Amino acid sequence: MAALFELFYQPGAKEWRSKVGVAGKADGSGKPTTRLLAADGWVLKTDIARAREGGDELREELERMADLARRTTLWHPTKQWAVMRTSDGYLPLSVCRELQTLRAVTPLSARLDAWTRMISFGVQTHIERGVGLDLNPSNFGFERPEERLYYLDDETSPRLGWAELASAIVSRLPEEPEADDLALWRGWGAELGPILEPICGGALVELDAELRRYPLHSRFAERRDALLEGLARPRRRRAGRGEPELTCVLADVHGNLPALEAVLDAAQSAGVDSYIFLGDAVGYGPWPGECVARLAELPRAACVRGNHDHAIATGTIHTGMNSLARRAATWTIEQLGAPERAWLASLPLEHRAENWLAVHGAPKDPNRFLAYVYELTYEDNIQHVAGMELSICLYGHTHVPFVHERSAAGGIRKLRAPAAWALGERQVALVNPGAVGQPRDGDRRAAFALWDRRAGSMSFHRVPYRIEDTLRAIRARGLPEELASRLEEGR
Ligand code: ZN
Repeated sequence: MAALFELFYQPGAKEWRSKVGVAGKADGSGKPTTRLLAADGWVLKTDIARAREGGDELREELERMADLARRTTLWHPTKQWAVMRTSDGYLPLSVCRELQTLRAVTPLSARLDAWTRMISFGVQTHIERGVGLDLNPSNFGFERPEERLYYLDDETSPRLGWAELASAIVSRLPEEPEADDLALWRGWGAELGPILEPICGGALVELDAELRRYPLHSRFAERRDALLEGLARPRRRRAGRGEPELTCVLADVHGNLPALEAVLDAAQSAGVDSYIFLGDAVGYGPWPGECVARLAELPRAACVRGNHDHAIATGTIHTGMNSLARRAATWTIEQLGAPERAWLASLPLEHRAENWLAVHGAPKDPNRFLAYVYELTYEDNIQHVAGMELSICLYGHTHVPFVHERSAAGGIRKLRAPAAWALGERQVALVNPGAVGQPRDGDRRAAFALWDRRAGSMSFHRVPYRIEDTLRAIRARGLPEELASRLEEGR
């Protein structure tokens, strides 16, 4: 502490005013409330926006940060935090060796490398520590260019959001006024692809939307296009050759064509080469025939029969259906022609391949499409799948994305609406991708999963769709109003 105190009073200590409040290319802090003092190779930093009247609250905040610093290597080993009392209250103070920030890296090719390392650092920290960093080149530095990066900022968040990640990438584009060579940005995109893979799973769906949404002057639009092209490059795969590599897993379309189209578009841009459809193409929604047609033409698709498909194909409106489902099923039968009903009737109750099984309802159920996988039944169903010597059972019917997994040692993990999941060794899992056309987990966007067949990992996705079109069609076709309101609420 005494040494810290001495630093303040070094004759050579100088305040770095020119480095505060600068956004963009210049080296420094974008926050106008930051105060920096450089002294004898050290940097002292505070943020007047974080002033507190009492010292205890601040001390707790800094304790948490110091604890994170002890458990990780985010910050330079010399970094220390202290609470400073001033006439205006308490301020957080940090001191760290002066490092070179990524802003100061030259030439441009080295700067691009440094940004790639920064983004990789952010992605890994999010995955391994559940900590989000502010990914800005001013916030990262190193002692020597070939050595590791350190985080210079003091702020962290509970996760790295898609919008923050997209901003860390796209906001680099206008910072280089001279870099008009599109091949450069395409190349950077291609380099980022594999780095983003662990956070995006098999596809860039959510990140892609944010990368396109990030506000950018039209002058840089071509750079963004080139970047996106580069990012998509390694994942553009071709259907129809060899083993499936990336499979779109979807369930419970329920006659909601705009939702189905949004999912198929997203899956296609992710580069899928195959499909697994877990049943309930029809029932509830206003476009049963169109949905059957779209599903029937999917290339390399394994499809199974849902309870609604069964009732409508065979004309046996099941007594187990509630009155809403029965009314919708009766209406649906009238809409379908013989070919569509024949396609529904041709669907098998289950599809079994390699180490996995696909059903609509529950694997243990004799007809596979009526019973549910839920709190009271998942253990029996996992046991059943293990007994079949399979590792994965894909199912739908509950309309909620979910993974139940059992480890070799018998430990159970339940993941509701996970972002990503991977099959461990000697594990057995029940996996539900959520519903395309009628989500019931409070999120009205269409749900699906992408299964990376080589890595054995799945990513779970939500895409918005033109829900107003579906609501309008439900009302125009005289289907029960409750079908519209539940779609709106996602329940
Ligand atoms: Zn369903």
